Amino acid sequence: MKNTVIITGASRGIGKACSLEFANAGYNVIINFNKSQAEAEKIFEKIRDSGGSAEIIKADVASFEGCRNLFKRSIEIFGKVEVLVNNAGTPLRKLFQDVTESEWKDLFNLNVGGVFNLSKFAVEHMVKNKKGKIINISSVWGLTGASLEVHYSASKAALIGFTKALAKELAPSGIQVNCVAPGVINTEMIADLTPNEISVLSSEIPLGRLGTPREIARMVLFLAGPESDYITGQVISPNGGIVV
Ligand code: NAP
Repeated sequence: MKNTVIITGASRGIGKACSLEFANAGYNVIINFNKSQAEAEKIFEKIRDSGGSAEIIKADVASFEGCRNLFKRSIEIFGKVEVLVNNAGTPLRKLFQDVTESEWKDLFNLNVGGVFNLSKFAVEHMVKNKKGKIINISSVWGLTGASLEVHYSASKAALIGFTKALAKELAPSGIQVNCVAPGVINTEMIADLTPNEISVLSSEIPLGRLGTPREIARMVLFLAGPESDYITGQVISPNGGIVV
């Protein structure tokens, strides 16, 4: 019987790559999106056309009720959920002095609140089944901090604390919780960087290039599978060596 994965923010970038990798590995895939319906539908069609199993569900993960509905629908469709990938997130590059209170709250509601919201429903279900894997997508900036990204760095550091604590709490229930902290990955999230900025950034990365969404998805897939059963509470950072 197939395992089921919910991937938040799966309409683009890393979430999209995760959807394709998990479908290819034989999972039922819940492709969550908030605004990009057409993109989510294209991913769904691609998976279906290659014989895979998927559904798309619209939900704003910053909304607790939205996550309640997302989880409920996932169970209605596939009956159970073994893996949750908390991927949805947003950046905001600004001087700390220019960040408004509402920007601070909105970003935390999504980047941290979204992980809390959906994990609440997933954990209840996984504890009952004594089985589950939760993978949170943090960032290398959550490990090191980044200038002009104080609030983003703080939100991604929060996910690291969340991961470690929840991993300890859920280990006796047979559930692993881990964190992937990517370096700079070539997605729309960095679309505001100029070619010159990307070239400077690449030259600062020991492996000399940005990462690809697929490289992150492969790590997430590994953490979802049986070969990572003895790994919990860890932060794994595919980052080309920019942080070692
Ligand atoms: P992206 O290409 O901008 O995609 C972001 C995804 O999040 C989209 O699918 C978007 O879907 C979804 N999303 C945004 N707000 C949402 C909401 N309220 N509810 C549900 N989904 C929502 O970003 P990405 O680069 O793939 O980043 C994915 C994750 O990796 C983020 O958590 C990011 O912080 C992290 N990360 C990225 C990098 C990088 O360099 N790219 C590095 C480190 C960590 P809709 O358009 O449908 O709203």
